[in-house]
Amino acid sequence: MRILLYSPLLLDQYLRGYNSKFKALLHKVIMHGSYHKSISLEMLAAVTPPEHEVVIWKSSYEKVNYDEFFDIVGIRTTTTDSLFSYKVADEYRRRGVTVVLGGWHASAMPMEAKQHADSVVVGEGEEIWPRLLKDFQRGKLKSFYYQRKPVEPEKIPDVSSYHLKDFAPAIQASRGCPYQCEFCSETIVNSKKIFRPRPIEKVVKEIKAMPGSTFIFHDASLTINPEYTKNLFRAIIGLNKHFFCNGNADVLGKDEELLELAKEAGCVGWLIGFESISQESLKSVSKKTNKVEDYIKTVDKIHEYGMMISGSFVFGFDGDTIDVFDRTKEFVDNSGIDMPDAMILTPFPGTPLFYRLEKENRILTKDWSKYDHRHVVFRPKNMTPDELLENTQKLYDDFFSKKDVIKRTLKSIRLGYNPFISTLFQNITMSTMEMNVEIKP
Ligand code: SF4
Repeated sequence: MRILLYSPLLLDQYLRGYNSKFKALLHKVIMHGSYHKSISLEMLAAVTPPEHEVVIWKSSYEKVNYDEFFDIVGIRTTTTDSLFSYKVADEYRRRGVTVVLGGWHASAMPMEAKQHADSVVVGEGEEIWPRLLKDFQRGKLKSFYYQRKPVEPEKIPDVSSYHLKDFAPAIQASRGCPYQCEFCSETIVNSKKIFRPRPIEKVVKEIKAMPGSTFIFHDASLTINPEYTKNLFRAIIGLNKHFFCNGNADVLGKDEELLELAKEAGCVGWLIGFESISQESLKSVSKKTNKVEDYIKTVDKIHEYGMMISGSFVFGFDGDTIDVFDRTKEFVDNSGIDMPDAMILTPFPGTPLFYRLEKENRILTKDWSKYDHRHVVFRPKNMTPDELLENTQKLYDDFFSKKDVIKRTLKSIRLGYNPFISTLFQNITMSTMEMNVEIKP
């Protein structure tokens, strides 16, 4: 069989109004860096029985070539791109091709997804996918497939042979996060609440087999089990690779051994969800790992060990009052975070936050294309939706003003070549992205 695994790419929509040649170049550079959000299609390709031919496409809607023949199409959905996914699914089905939908959004809204698919996969896909293909071949495809128990870490596949040339390689050393912050997509699929580290020797083998020297860890957080991560870092010292990973502020602020090993192993930077500089706001969404009073110490420690920090801040929590924007700008300037991001709180369907806000009658729209951290889709508590939108947009523009980008980039020189280049690249990337954009499928 010929199988297409497809995921929509909305990057075009977010790039500011550059001429198309420059946009194409930016597209390439960004995809090679920070825009690589998921390797779940690569994982499905890796568990597909070898007698089938698999093609992976990650592209904008316009670039889908419907004339190419496939027996079955699997589409990964997130909430933001779900309307695009449905449009692609509808077109393939119109042409008589069988379509399977999976991913975060289909898992959260299986009945909705089913209206656009022959079959829907709810939860992790690795164990279901080969079974589903067999059912399809026998003409016995089911409408829904549910992964009820967590995929065992030993079974998380090696994707080193499936990386697309336009994207930086990525790997998952572990899966899941036990913290269950109210807004986090990791809470959508039940099994993702269970932290599952893969055997270190398998992770190291996969890293060795990866093309190129830079990669990204797609783990929810590499600080959930610091001892595991330290052993992993020890095992990759000397491989001459560079990488980025997610981590939580609490552990990174105090575990110097972890930071030292990270640096030695080739870590260039940490992506940290600071989320808010209001402890009240953090409490309102159960972000237990973050203590605002320790943030500066965390930033200083990571810098001390020569790594950069990409820190995200979210606005619209119930503890947020209108002064949170100015206070965040002041904090970012004082702390020396190398690449800040400002996002609007988004209650993705399937998260406890979505259900709470729905119960409180505060969801303003279910137009999923607006669930992108750039629109206000719920009624905030202590400000109007317009105040939330305008202030977040203004903060984003302030973060990426020429003056701030230059200041942060120059400051990062002291961290060494790779963190400096990364700070430069990430800041330029963000300054080319449009915050206020309408995504139309
Ligand atoms: S700690 Fe991070 S990954 Fe874990 S639930 Fe919270 S936001 Fe999600």
